Amino acid sequence: MRIVVKVGTSTLAHETGCLNIRHVEELCKVLSDLKNAGEEIILVSSGAIGMGVGKLSLGHRPKDMETKQAAAAVGQCELMYTYDKLFSEYNHTVAQLLITAPDMEDSRRHTNFNNTINRLLSLNVLPVINENDTVATEEISVGDNDTLSAIVACSCKADLLILLSDIDGLYTSDPRIDKNAVLIEEVNEITPEIIALAGGKGSDLGTGGMATKIRAAQLCNENGIDLIIANGSNPSLLYDILDGKKIGTKFIGRKN
Ligand code: GLU
Repeated sequence: MRIVVKVGTSTLAHETGCLNIRHVEELCKVLSDLKNAGEEIILVSSGAIGMGVGKLSLGHRPKDMETKQAAAAVGQCELMYTYDKLFSEYNHTVAQLLITAPDMEDSRRHTNFNNTINRLLSLNVLPVINENDTVATEEISVGDNDTLSAIVACSCKADLLILLSDIDGLYTSDPRIDKNAVLIEEVNEITPEIIALAGGKGSDLGTGGMATKIRAAQLCNENGIDLIIANGSNPSLLYDILDGKKIGTKFIGRKN
């Protein structure tokens, strides 16, 4: 299987912006093992800005573009250094791909991107993708990695996109407020009711939220790709997902 795994800032970093060592170590271990088992893995990783916030001791996510981009430039290094170190422990090689929306809209650049991904996978390298935040100003940015990972999954014809977040999946109402909220295990059609269930923004350091996840699901499902939202605080759930167990919320891709 070709699987795109997207991991959000809320999984990778503590609220301080410092690395969540337990989550990241566990994630790298499980993904390495899945690669050893023959799965093709592409990682879309957020966390550049979040980790830049930690490294520069900014205390909170910056509001102005220059500081955001500076934080991303610092944090992206930290992120790749961490992945390189941890995946190396399991004999896996990582590659960094930083892209922007225009890269995916321009057919020549898009083809180059696909060719590079395919070559990296054939070399058994783990591609780690993020938006190129240092050049992607608001007008030209994809803006959030839920959408970016869906674009990547469609582009490289993945079988499955897994969004690892700080929530178990899509609920009938916000579980942080309503204790009667129930996890929805499977979504066969993204109806206006489903869209209405997605509230606003997620964590303070990231940019995603349930709304961007549902949009990502729409994009994937229209292209026949399944999407699962699962809790990133326990990356070993990835084993269960691949064993076909019901984990998180699965949005079923349209099969023609
Ligand atoms: N590209 C951003 C980062 O690495 C994250 C975007 C998102 O949180 O979806 O900080």
